Amino acid sequence: MPSLSWDASRCQASGECSVVAPHLLELDDDLVLRFEPVQPASELQTLRQACLRCPTGALQLTED
Ligand code: SF4
Repeated sequence: MPSLSWDASRCQASGECSVVAPHLLELDDDLVLRFEPVQPASELQTLRQACLRCPTGALQLTED
């Protein structure tokens, strides 16, 4: 199953990841990224795109 990790110290709160996957990633009012760490395999392409759009590498995807 794909899984996500997020490094708060690297996040610039640009919100680009949540634009790509608003149903999976939400930047809350405190600029904390909310998501389920383990994601369904059916979302793999979307998750890849979200991580590619992250300008800082704060959002990382592990595919296995
Ligand atoms: S795209 Fe990256 S820097 Fe921007 S909110 Fe998402 S995790 Fe943070």
